[in-house]
Amino acid sequence: MCEFCLKHGEGQKWYLQARNYSEDLLSDIRRRKMIEDFAANSQAVAGAIEKMDKLSKAPKFIQALVRRLIPRRMKKRHYGQVVPIEDVEKIFGFVNSIARVACYCRHFTIGKEKRYCYGISMGPNGGKFGEIMRGVDTSFLFGPDSAGVEMISKEQAIANFREHEKEGLCHTVWTFQTPFIGGICNCDRADCLAMRCTVTHNIPVMFRAEFVARIDNDKCIGCRQCMRLCQFGAISYSASNKKAVIDKSKCYGCGICRSVCNKNAISLEPRESDPVAARLW
Ligand code: SF4
Ligand code: SF4
Repeated sequence: MCEFCLKHGEGQKWYLQARNYSEDLLSDIRRRKMIEDFAANSQAVAGAIEKMDKLSKAPKFIQALVRRLIPRRMKKRHYGQVVPIEDVEKIFGFVNSIARVACYCRHFTIGKEKRYCYGISMGPNGGKFGEIMRGVDTSFLFGPDSAGVEMISKEQAIANFREHEKEGLCHTVWTFQTPFIGGICNCDRADCLAMRCTVTHNIPVMFRAEFVARIDNDKCIGCRQCMRLCQFGAISYSASNKKAVIDKSKCYGCGICRSVCNKNAISLEPRESDPVAARLW
């Protein structure tokens, strides 16, 4: 269990607790302000990307300090966790509205509108979260022919997420003043600030999933399709055995490698069941 499960889930998966999505949490003025600032202050995302890219050139002690301070701060404000599709379906099962929106990160990293982010709420029509977002000018994110925010059904959202998996995108839940969860994103390492920060720069702003992947050697035919999709470089190929091999120390447990395995050779098991993965978050 990650530390949020202990702190915000009473030992169960924290992101499957309905209270962490509750409208009540949005009555907190500081949280509402944080969400407004987050949505309106677009330059903060661009600035963070720039700073992070510069960090690798900073003296080692600065890097070490940043690696310690940023995760600590982000755990209180805006922290994420990788979530496999089965758990995304469970979340969509109990929230009452789902809005598809353009991704902030991709707006800056590739300069395109990509609708990979989903706002979720317990209230109808976006609830209080939607109310806050509708009050913020986010028009810079959308093109002239764009639908802006689209409200979609649970069935449509799940179908979209399955398509995102085929594109190699990994699902992540996000807090807005922890423990309130307001969004689920579909990330990749090249374009997403959080994944760049966590995986490329080793400054964690999200936890790995509560799971880790395993390959059934009796089923694997060594086609290597799964290697192509893994965002975390966790899969290699054993030429002598002609099988794919998962490095548990690198696996984030997203499960997207399963979507391309025609032999059904990959499964997810609880992270705590693996001695290597259990220590890594
Ligand atoms: S996609 Fe499946 S069969 Fe192909 S290498 Fe990966 S685990 Fe093996
Ligand atoms: S090996 Fe692990 S990190 Fe890589 S795609 Fe599969 S589950 Fe995700």
